[in-house]
Amino acid sequence: MQAGAGSGAWHNTSCCIACCRVTAVNEDSIDLELKDATKQSLPFGTCIWAAGVGMHPLVAGLKEKLPAELQTSRRGLLVDEHLRVVGSQGTIYCLGDAAVTGATPQTALPPTAQVARQEGEYLAALFSKNKLALVEPSSDGSEEEEAADADLVPLPKRAKPFRYFHLGSLAYLGSHRGVMDLPFKTPFLKTLRGYLGAQTWRFLETYMQDRTAVMEPEAPPAPTLPAEGPTAARKTRVVVLGSGWGAVSFIKNLDPAAFGEGGGYELVLVSPRNYMLFTPLLPSAVGGVVSENSIVESIRTLMQGKGTYYEARASDIDPEKRVLTCKKEFCEVCAARKSQGGSLASHDHSEEEHTFQLSYDILLCSVGAVNATFGIKGVQDHCFFLKSMEDAQQLRRHISKALEHAALPDVTPENRRKLLSFVVVGGGPTGVEVAAELYDLVKEDVARKFPSIAEDVGITLIDGMDSLLNSYHTEIQSYAGETFRHNGIHLRLGTRVTEVREGEVLVEHKDGGRDSVPFGTCVWATGIAMHPLVALLKERLPADVQTSRRGLLVDQHLRVRGSQGTIYCLGDAAVTGDSPATALPPTAQVARQEGQYLAALLSKQRLALVEPAAAGEAATGAQAAGEGGELVPLPRATKPFGYMHLGSLAYLGDSKGAMDLPIKTPFLKTLRGYLGAQAWRTLETLLQVSPRTRWLVAHDWVRASVFGRNLSDI
Ligand code: FAD
Repeated sequence: MQAGAGSGAWHNTSCCIACCRVTAVNEDSIDLELKDATKQSLPFGTCIWAAGVGMHPLVAGLKEKLPAELQTSRRGLLVDEHLRVVGSQGTIYCLGDAAVTGATPQTALPPTAQVARQEGEYLAALFSKNKLALVEPSSDGSEEEEAADADLVPLPKRAKPFRYFHLGSLAYLGSHRGVMDLPFKTPFLKTLRGYLGAQTWRFLETYMQDRTAVMEPEAPPAPTLPAEGPTAARKTRVVVLGSGWGAVSFIKNLDPAAFGEGGGYELVLVSPRNYMLFTPLLPSAVGGVVSENSIVESIRTLMQGKGTYYEARASDIDPEKRVLTCKKEFCEVCAARKSQGGSLASHDHSEEEHTFQLSYDILLCSVGAVNATFGIKGVQDHCFFLKSMEDAQQLRRHISKALEHAALPDVTPENRRKLLSFVVVGGGPTGVEVAAELYDLVKEDVARKFPSIAEDVGITLIDGMDSLLNSYHTEIQSYAGETFRHNGIHLRLGTRVTEVREGEVLVEHKDGGRDSVPFGTCVWATGIAMHPLVALLKERLPADVQTSRRGLLVDQHLRVRGSQGTIYCLGDAAVTGDSPATALPPTAQVARQEGQYLAALLSKQRLALVEPAAAGEAATGAQAAGEGGELVPLPRATKPFGYMHLGSLAYLGDSKGAMDLPIKTPFLKTLRGYLGAQAWRTLETLLQVSPRTRWLVAHDWVRASVFGRNLSDI
C-alpha cells in the first residue's frame, strides 16, 4: 500500500480508505484515524511512504548560521527574487526543494522538478551573462556602484529576477491512464485525461530525459502457479537449479507442450537470482558502456507458461531420497530486524522457517561455479571480483568514486597516482576485457570529463603465463599482447601473485625475484572453482566415480555419474571428460549447447522415474540404458551430447577485438583489429537472451558512442 499524509491534513490513500489520517506505522500495519474520528488498522506487506519532503539536514544547519529574523521558513532557505539566500550577502544561491521562494506557503513555489529545472536554467543564464565576483568587505564600494548595499557578491541592477512559468502537471495513474493539468486552460479543455493523458505523460517523461532513453515499463508477468493435485502427481517432476546460461538455455529450448498443462513433465526452477545475466558483457557494464538493466532478463518472463519459479538457494541435496533443501532468499522478519539494526542471531526465527523441502524425479544442476582464489592470502579482503551483477555494480561505483576522489583539490600527486592505479590479475578473457574496458573508459571519457587526472591513470595486468588469452590461437595471443603494450597497459606476464595486501599486490617472477605492485583498485579474474553445493553433492555420491576436483563428472548424456540417471549437470558445474585435456571449457557457449541438448532430450521422449524395485527389471528391458539399475532410464537410441565449437571472441579496447574462427583456412584463422571488434559487438548483441535485451544492448552501443559512458556512481 502507499500512504500520503502531510502536515496532518486529511488525505486519500491509494487503497479504498478515503479521507483518513495516519497516526502510527507499526511493523506490519498502519493505524488510521478516519474523518469521523473512528480508528482503523490496515495490515500491509510493504508500505511506501510518500508523504512529501522535509528540510535537508545541511539546509537546517546553514539556516542556523544565518540571521534568524530573516530566515523564518520551516521548509527550507528563504531566497530573494534572484534565488540568493536571504541573509547570505549574495554569496549563497539556493534552488530546488531546498529553496523557499515566498514568505508564505501560498506564495512559495512548489517543490517540483519543473521548478528546480527552471531555477537551474535561470542561474546558468545569470552566471553566464554577468561576471559575478567577490568584493572584499573592506572595499570602498566604488566597484559596486550598481550593486545592492551589503552584498559581497553584487549583482548588476539590470539582472532580471527569476520568473517561474508553469508548464502543467502530469501524473500516471496505471492501466495506461494518466492526467495532465494543462498550463493553458480554455473553456473547453482544462485537463487531459485517460489514455491521451498517459501518452502525453510517457512522451514528455521521455522527452525531458537528459540523454537517457526511457523504455516502456515491462508488463508484469502473469503469475504461474505450481501444478498440484492428482494430475501433477503423475507427471515427472523436473527441478532445475540455477538461472544462468545452462538453465536458461534449457528453458528456452524445451517444448512447451511437453512441459505445459497437458505434457508429461512438471517444471520447477529454483535460483536465488530471479534473472538471467549475460556474463560476456559484464566488463562492458563495469566500463559504463552497456547499462546493467540491458544485460539481464527476468526469469519469470523466460519461465512464463512453462513452470514454476522459486526464489531460493538449494543448500542441500539428498540424492537417495531425491529431496532438495532450499533456503529462501528473502525473509521479511530478518529484513525488518536488519533494517532496525538488530542482530539476526538473537531473534526467535528458527532456521526451519527459512527453508523448505522440494522433491524431484529428475534434477538439472546448473549452479555454475565460484571465483578461484587458490587460497592466496588477502584476495577475498582486498580485491574486486567479476562474476555477478552485484560485483559489476560494486566495481563500477568504486571506479567512479576513485576518479572523483582523485580529482579532489587536496589529494597529493603521489596519492592520486595510487588511487588511479588499476591492477587486473588474470590474463584470460575476463581479465583482458576488464583491462580493455578500463582503457577505453580512460581514453574516451576520463580524458574529457576529468582532464586534470587522466594522465595519472595506470593499468597493469598480471598473469602467471607468458602470454594473454592462453586458450586462444597463438596469433591472437601475440596480437592481444601487442595491442595492450601499444595502448600503454603495463603487462606483468610470467608473474605469480603470492599475497594481496591493502593497496599492494605481492608478486613473484618466474626467475624467483619478488616485488610489489601498488593499487587503488585490484580486480581478481583468475578463473573458477567448484561451487559449494556441487562439492556437497559430490560427497554424497560414490567416491570412485566422482573423481574430479573441478566439478561433477557426467557421462555422454550429461547424467551425473553415480546418480542412477536422476541428476543431470550442465555448465560450469559439470566436468565432461576424465582429464582436463578432454573436458570441455567452462564457457557460456558450452553451457548453452548443453542446455539445448537436454531440452531436446527431455522434450522428445517422456523420461520417468522407475521405482527402485522395478529398476532392475527396467535395466534388462528395452527402455533401459547401458548402465544397469538406473532410476530414470534413457532409451537405447538416445544420442550423446556433441559440442560444436563456434569460435571465441575477445574485446581488446580501442575498437580492436579478436575472434578465433571455428573453421580455419590457410589464409584466415582469426579475425583481428577493427573487424574483430565489430564481430564481437555484433555477436554479443545477437546472442542476447531476449528481443528486449537485444534492443537495449544495441541501443547502449549507440548511446555510449554518441553521449559517452555512465560515469555516475549510482
Ligand atoms: P551461471 O551462468 O554462472 O549460472 C549459475 C546460476 O546458478 C545462477 O543463476 C546462480 O544464481 C544459480 N545458483 C547459484 N547457487 C545456487 C544454489 N545453491 N541453488 C540454486 N541456484 C544457484 N563464456 C563465454 O562463452 N564467452 C564469454 O565471452 C564469457 N565471458 C564471461 C565474462 C565474465 C565476466 C564471466 C564471469 C564469465 C564469462 N563467461 C563467458 C563464462 C560463462 O559466463 C559461464 O561459463 C556460464 O555462465 C556458465 O553457465 P552456468 O549455467 O553453468 O552458470
